[in-house]
Amino acid sequence: MRKVPKSKYPFVWQKDDFYIKIFCSIPNIAVGILLKTDKSYFIIDPGDGILRDLNKEIGTDKLLQVSDLFISHGHHDHVGGLWSFLTYQNVMRRTKPLNIYYPKGGVEIESLHKAFNNVYGKELSYKINLIRIDKAKTFQRKGVKIKPFFVNHREPAPDNNSSVLIPSIGFKFEYDGKTICYGGDTAYCDSLVQMAEGSDLAIIEAGATSEDDADLHMTFDQAIEIGETAGEYFLVHVPD
Ligand SMILES: [Zn+2]
Repeated sequence: MRKVPKSKYPFVWQKDDFYIKIFCSIPNIAVGILLKTDKSYFIIDPGDGILRDLNKEIGTDKLLQVSDLFISHGHHDHVGGLWSFLTYQNVMRRTKPLNIYYPKGGVEIESLHKAFNNVYGKELSYKINLIRIDKAKTFQRKGVKIKPFFVNHREPAPDNNSSVLIPSIGFKFEYDGKTICYGGDTAYCDSLVQMAEGSDLAIIEAGATSEDDADLHMTFDQAIEIGETAGEYFLVHVPD
């Protein structure tokens, strides 16, 4: 296995008005990403700490301007900050609707949303639109083109001898002629290979702890192979 030098979070990338900051992407702990243009604030994978990181980065007013959340899958390290983010918006009396995109079958996100509604529904100052993605169909928000794509993310089965496919997607974002491909968590798969190729930035997980783990996550070699087809790339979700 090739060794990749580790760099410290956050990872930042910017081309003109298209900006992304990966606060962190630590397997089993937390992921949190801000995507920003001159017209919008998006969040990708609101893991634990996202509210703290955003508060420091953009402050209260801009936090209320976040219009869309893109969730790759329901594992706790990718959604652990959702509850506090949603609650904060209510405490600050947000009025604008908030869109949450997630893969079809993402029961963790639906359960969180349901529980949140049970607690705060009657006094909620804003509307939450839960948008289930069941097709790899491009849509547009605030001038950003978003193309979701299905990836191959698995988790160990309870018997520990096999693995189970879980609903998981990546997203390709395009703004002002620049593209960012975020694969989420996935083993090596054709959809990610295709979407990452030619992107200005590819964000690729390299979460496999060994070659034996390659049905769950990508090895360094696999992640680098994909990353090198993009203009630039970050390796994320690298185990300690
Ligand atoms: Zn995962």
